[in-house]
Amino acid sequence: MAIILNNMKKIFSLLLISSTLWIGSLMAQKSTSLESLLPQINADSLLQTVTDLQNFQSRFALRPGGNQAVAEYIANRLNNYGITAKIDTFHQAGQNWLVGAYDQDFYNVRGVLPAVNAKDDSLVLIGAHLDAISYDHQTWQLLEMAPGADDNASGVAVMLEMARICHENNLRFNRDIHFMAFDGEELGLFGGYYDAQKRQETGENIAVMINNDMVSYQPDENWRLMLHWYDNSLDVVSRAADICAQYTDIDPYIPSSSENNNARASDSYAYYQNGFRAVFAIEYTFSTSYHTDHDVADSNNYAYHADVARYNLAMLAEYAGLDDGVGVEEQPHIATMRVYPNPVSEKAVVRYQLTEASPIAITIMDMMGRVVMQQDFSNQSAGLHIEELDMARFPAGVYLCRLQTVKGMETTKLVKR
Ligand SMILES: [Zn+2]
Repeated sequence: MAIILNNMKKIFSLLLISSTLWIGSLMAQKSTSLESLLPQINADSLLQTVTDLQNFQSRFALRPGGNQAVAEYIANRLNNYGITAKIDTFHQAGQNWLVGAYDQDFYNVRGVLPAVNAKDDSLVLIGAHLDAISYDHQTWQLLEMAPGADDNASGVAVMLEMARICHENNLRFNRDIHFMAFDGEELGLFGGYYDAQKRQETGENIAVMINNDMVSYQPDENWRLMLHWYDNSLDVVSRAADICAQYTDIDPYIPSSSENNNARASDSYAYYQNGFRAVFAIEYTFSTSYHTDHDVADSNNYAYHADVARYNLAMLAEYAGLDDGVGVEEQPHIATMRVYPNPVSEKAVVRYQLTEASPIAITIMDMMGRVVMQQDFSNQSAGLHIEELDMARFPAGVYLCRLQTVKGMETTKLVKR
């Protein structure tokens, strides 16, 4: 696995600053846990998200109703992963050579995973734009279908995959992680500017903004990832390249100044313009379906996409600091649970023991964190309880069974045959 070196890369290595070294030593001590997490990143789950987003038919921000439903889908996914997410609506009116006049509501999504054992108030932001655009590249006529599978359902899928991994492993970091989806990127980074400006005005301290835009197209064996950089973040891109080389099968590519023009073409540029450090990952081989109705889920390479997601998880571990308490329950257990048979084909038996009385909820979630069944019991006494769940109507696959008490939750994987 070779890193593609160019002159810029050599200059960057001279610019490493002390904070990188500090964070680097933090990671060295925790790389074991990170290495156990990376294989959990799942190509099928990325494909599922890309397909869900493509199924909106169009995510063009100016269509009637705009991207509200898309934002709701993303916010729901984050909330189901235990990340408090809200839609941040803003309005913008103007004129653009391609789309004409507009006067529209736009819908960003903001989710927050709060830090534990935080040293300061800094945060790490991982983001991707949720909107899409497509047009006839001869006539510039806008097209009705804007599936935007690579551009940029792929980036949103990476962000949601991070949330899924955090949730399933109960991960905590030493910095807040903000999960962002931006609307109106294709019209001029509207969502990025709106959010970055607000954060700049309120004096937020963003350690790094990690942007993914078009990260799933890779037609051949020569896997590369372009890491666009900003002149306030040279240490970040240098570290990002090292991380990509260390934790993935992708060769990172740091463009030279003349190859770096596209750094301006995505939301990370809005953060840079507001004084924040950022890095922008994009496929090295540019998609041939860019901004057309051919940008569909089938054209992507999900093994490559999963590896880009691994780079992102390693970046979060590096910059947000994966806490020592990985996978450790925050609250004392009052429940133990067993689910059987496992795999199950029809009826699953949930057998659980409470050490004190508590209202409880038993929830079954699919791989995407969607709740497919929930049963609430108002007050259960201390002692042994048995409930039966009818799993017959669910498609085969992996599910999570969660037992929620007043003092926390127990989760176990349940395979449906
Ligand atoms: Zn894009």
